Amino acid sequence: MAQIIDGKKISAEIREEIKEEVIRLTKEGVRPGLAVILVGNDPASKVYVNNKKKACDETGIYSEEYLLPENTSEKELVELIEKLNRRDQISGILLQSPIPPHLDYNKIILSISPYKDVDAFHPYNVGKIMIGSYDLAPCTPAGIIELISRSGETISGKNCVVIGRSNIVGKPMAMLLLHKNGTVTVCHSKTQNLASITNKADILISAIGKAEFITADMVKPGSTVIDVGMNRNTEGKLVGDVEFRSVSEICGKITPVPGGVGPMTITMLLKNTLTAAKLQKYST
Ligand code: NAP
Repeated sequence: MAQIIDGKKISAEIREEIKEEVIRLTKEGVRPGLAVILVGNDPASKVYVNNKKKACDETGIYSEEYLLPENTSEKELVELIEKLNRRDQISGILLQSPIPPHLDYNKIILSISPYKDVDAFHPYNVGKIMIGSYDLAPCTPAGIIELISRSGETISGKNCVVIGRSNIVGKPMAMLLLHKNGTVTVCHSKTQNLASITNKADILISAIGKAEFITADMVKPGSTVIDVGMNRNTEGKLVGDVEFRSVSEICGKITPVPGGVGPMTITMLLKNTLTAAKLQKYST
């Protein structure tokens, strides 16, 4: 049976570290602050925004929420972001996605100051990640790097296979692994003979969004398997991309769903808010 990489436990450890750092920074007169903007009434997004607020409260980070109506115009949204860009109390700005279809996400993200872009989705930060010179990294991939490292696994020299090439998970994940000296292969829906690639992975990261798609025959014995997927199976139960029961019989380490990657994402958002506060204080 594989070692379970406990995302809740690792996340709690990092939050303790963040809490201490927030106390230290606050004493120096820099209390980190996060503004979360939600446009519209998506119920799942409301839950995420609420969880982010709670996480800020727990770690001593100041937070503000902006719940804007569905018909908010681009001009109104950009004006709010620009106002937040100018405020010292706000170190990080997060625009909760999805946003209503009349708003252009890629255009609006450009109005967030790159120094306050705690999702690291602004092209400036995407470029910095590409060249390996970054302070802010997208929360889910950054959380996965922490999970791998804190489980005692090394990335350098390992065959790393990432399934999925989205801008928020797959692509930045591949870059972060590359910067840690992994040998990285990225797979997607047009990849042929996927199992022949995944079978060679020392570290397999699945970010597909298909319930229990990765089966035991696709996994290298003794490998580390990171399951990013959050899916409902036919019984409505929350499951990952990986068939946990059979895969955990052969791999060396595995993240569960729930309780693996999920808890790390908000934790890394808190860490990015802290980093952003330091950047604004000490680099100006
Ligand atoms: P996405 O934008 O839908 O991307 C899915 C990727 O999977 C695409 O690149 C797609 O390939 C690839 N794919 C689809 N079917 C495939 C197949 N049969 N074989 C190989 N690749 C295939 O999704 P995402 O936003 O990256 O999220 C992926 C999953 O992670 C979702 O379940 C999401 O809920 C979850 N997630 C979890 C967290 C967390 O905090 N735990 C955070 C973010 C996302 P193409 O590019 O060719 O279409």
